[in-house]
Amino acid sequence: MSSPISKSAFIKAEQCLKHFYLYKNHYYLRDVLSKEKQLIFKRGTDVGIFAQQLFPGGIDVTAGEKRDQQLFAEKTKHLIANGTKTIYEATFIYDDLLVMVDILHKHEDKWIAYEVKSSLKITETYVKDACFQYYVIKNSLPDLVDFNLLTMNPKYVLDSELDIKKLFKSTSVMKDAVKNLDYFSHKTKIAKQTLEQNKIPDIKIGAHCFQPYECDFLGTCWKNINEPNSVLTLGKLTKQAMFELYDQNIKRIDEIDINTIKHKEIKIQVKAAIEQKEQVFNEEVNAFISNVKHPICSLDIEVWMPAIPYYHGTKPFQQIPFLFSMISEDNGELKNYSYFKPIEEDLRKDFLERILVETKKFNSILMFDKSLEETVLNQLVDLYPEYRNEIADLKNKIVDLAEPIRKGNYYHPDMKGNFTLKSIAPLVNQEAGFNKLEIQSGISAMYIYESMLEQNAIEAERIKAQLIEYCEMDALITYQLLNFFENRVH
Ligand code: SF4
Repeated sequence: MSSPISKSAFIKAEQCLKHFYLYKNHYYLRDVLSKEKQLIFKRGTDVGIFAQQLFPGGIDVTAGEKRDQQLFAEKTKHLIANGTKTIYEATFIYDDLLVMVDILHKHEDKWIAYEVKSSLKITETYVKDACFQYYVIKNSLPDLVDFNLLTMNPKYVLDSELDIKKLFKSTSVMKDAVKNLDYFSHKTKIAKQTLEQNKIPDIKIGAHCFQPYECDFLGTCWKNINEPNSVLTLGKLTKQAMFELYDQNIKRIDEIDINTIKHKEIKIQVKAAIEQKEQVFNEEVNAFISNVKHPICSLDIEVWMPAIPYYHGTKPFQQIPFLFSMISEDNGELKNYSYFKPIEEDLRKDFLERILVETKKFNSILMFDKSLEETVLNQLVDLYPEYRNEIADLKNKIVDLAEPIRKGNYYHPDMKGNFTLKSIAPLVNQEAGFNKLEIQSGISAMYIYESMLEQNAIEAERIKAQLIEYCEMDALITYQLLNFFENRVH
């Protein structure tokens, strides 16, 4: 007998029946879960467990048991029958469909379900997930009278003590859930029929491979498609527009009629693919470089966005700067400087003062995509208005090296439609590179920093070194990118 269809499996069926079939029958073909995704899932679980404090004293059906959903469902039934008021991870199976809900709480003889989302907003997918859960639970537990999504309250500010009731925001999805009961009855039938057919559904790749989530089987379906010149690697194009070309049988970038393209940043990619060489708009890049005033340094800031505010006066997901790295030159030698804020302390003022002191003597501060850094600096102005003028000075000196790439004035075919620092890094510095590092993205850096809350001192030191190494690499490539552009135009 096959296992019941879980909520995760059903959501996959909604995205693509092939995704659903592969997930249920060929799980081994699934792409390896990136470290980043693992950390995102972990945060979701942690927030879910934290929210249990809203209804203290409940029983977790999964505690101390091996992962056996039939057993969890039995245990839930038993707890309900025995008058338990609050159940965590309450599990239900109905008509071969399985759901687990974060919190089930009895209020005046009626049951209310709560699903926790580590997010500030409610998305369509969250509502659909919740409605599916309601469909299964309502059919197993007729006394269920409400189903709520618990999200983080964007207005909550941490005062002296965390107020969990104010931290979470509860939104009922009952209207949608009741309205959609027939929809789920119909859609779950289709999902079951797909499994009964016993063959992989013949579904072509499309924009749906990324909506609402990136599919777990891209490695299987896309394996013959990711050739360097594939039209599906075109950057700055929506997935819809990309597939419109693909479905018109324009499979390679160099097959696109360049005269039909309006946008410069797309045209440059097509030209690079046709000529198989880098493209530089000399005049524009030169004009950009002329804004740089020596002496220069490069600067990169890493931020932490804790779902549950950690420092006094902060909100859920507020960007907290914790690390900056700078590269400059001293007598022809590259010099680096990094400042690292320990996670336990709110040293944002110290962070700000250090960054102001260290950057003061430079006339241009190089960054790659300044948006995050500018947001952080703006928040620091609000927090420490006494530094308003110095922060304004720093902001005036920023030169954003992403600009020539973003505006379509520089492109190399090796960038494969990617306009990030990571994509240009191998062209700028062939020896150094992000792929040799433990941490390879700002998102990973953030989650790994968060993991320091649970590490011992030795492990925390190791993580700190990895984070600094990552941030320094960002600053180094940014610094060298200026020279790279100069060489291209001179
Ligand atoms: S990669 Fe696309 S077509 Fe293939 S299973 Fe996933 S969503 Fe379906």
